[in-house]
This record gives sequence, C-alpha cells and structure tokens, in this order.
Amino acid sequence: MRKVYLIETIFIIWLVIVLSLFFPVYVKADNGEGIKPMVAFTFDDGPNPIYTKKLLDGLAERDAKATFFVVGERLDYKSGKYEDWEIAKGRELVARMAREGHTVANHSYSHCWLSKSTHEKVDYELKKTNELIKEITGQETKYMRPPGGSALTAPWVRNIAAPMITVCWGYYDTRDWQCRNIDKMVKTIVENTFDGDIVLLHDNYETSIETAFRAMDILKEKGYRFVTVDELLNRNTGNGWELDPSRIYCTMREGDYSRLKKV
Ligand SMILES: [Zn+2]
Repeated sequence: MRKVYLIETIFIIWLVIVLSLFFPVYVKADNGEGIKPMVAFTFDDGPNPIYTKKLLDGLAERDAKATFFVVGERLDYKSGKYEDWEIAKGRELVARMAREGHTVANHSYSHCWLSKSTHEKVDYELKKTNELIKEITGQETKYMRPPGGSALTAPWVRNIAAPMITVCWGYYDTRDWQCRNIDKMVKTIVENTFDGDIVLLHDNYETSIETAFRAMDILKEKGYRFVTVDELLNRNTGNGWELDPSRIYCTMREGDYSRLKKV
C-alpha cells in the first residue's frame, strides 16, 4: 500500500514539473485569437539629460511605447540637487514623453525608501512629484513605483498612494544599474519575457538603453507589441472590472481578473 502512495506521489511531482515546463511555452505561443502578445518596458530613476533623449529617439524609431517612473527632484528647480540646465532638460524630456504617448509615472520625489519613511513624508513625496508631472504634462499621474520595489511596499504606503496604482515588475531583474554586460541582459529579458510582463530598466545608463533596443528588436520578431503600463494593466478592465489600488501589479496576463476588483 505504501509503495502505491510513493509511486502516486512521484507521478504527481513529475506531472507538476512537466506542466510547469510547458506552461510558459503555451503563454508565449500567442493567445489563440491572433492577438499580439504585449510587454511593458519601464524605465526608472530618470529623466537623464543624455540617455533619456537617446531612448526616446530609439522608441520612436521602433514605434514602441514605454513607461517612465520619474524622480520628482530631477524636475524641480528648487530641489537644489541638480544644475538648472539639467532640470530644464529633464522637464523638456518629460513633456516629450507625454507628447509621444508614453506613460509618465511617479517614482517618489527624492528616491527614498517609502516604507521606511513617515506617513507625512510618503504623502509629500508622492504629491509633490504628481504636481510636478501635472505642471509639465498637464496630465494626472495614475501609477507609482516605490524605490526598491515590492518587498518594500507596505500596505499603508499603497493606502496613501491611492487612487494611484502600484506597479512593480516581473519575477526576474537584470539589475542593469549594476550589470554592464549587454549580451547577458538581453538574454535574460528575451528568455524570460512572456505576454503581459513588465520589464524593469533604468534610463541612466547607456548599457540599459542599448539592452532595451536589442531586446525589443528580438521580441518584435516574435510578434510582441510594446505598450505602456496603462495599456497593459487595462487590457482586462471595463465591463465592471477595475484596477485595485490596494494591490501590487507585476504582470497582467490576458483574461487575468485575479487582481482586479468588481466596481
Ligand atoms: Zn529607482
């Protein structure tokens, strides 16, 4: 009897391994209706006066949309941390992002660890950055990404940020702020990206920009479309479903309602 249980257990483990191997292939293959798979490239910590411009030029050439999680103090003449020409350039780049259909989003004012700050500071960091973005683009900011990511995003931070939606990224990270190996980073992105993923990079490094372009060119060959976080996260909203500010969004698969809420 015991031997039978053992065989059954081994069979179930084998089945789980086989299914988990096939699942990504299934997701990657297309979603059956001929809908192109989509991926949202996101760039944090900018705008950077040199590299962000290069990035925007390359995105325009590829007809690709992206999302920029910008740091407020890079857009504020009163921050005292950057030269006036850098701020002017940054503001010009943010205006261009909005004009060209990219999403401009909030990455705090001073790039501080929000969960380790006071409630008042979190409120200030988010509101001040939203005001700066509105002043430059005329648009309200709907999305925020806390510096450091999901591990440091306490529920109370999301409460303060609401109705903004908290966006992190998929299960892998190129750590492009540390890694300068373009081939390695392109490989990581291309091999691990599936329909509905959010890719994290930083527009402060030339290597990150080059990585984004090369990964996009390969993914485009596979049929991918490059969309903003706004478009990706809203692929399943409507008909009584909406995004939930109390959740953290790292992916959005076609037909996934698990992190949406009923209106
Ligand atoms: Zn950051």
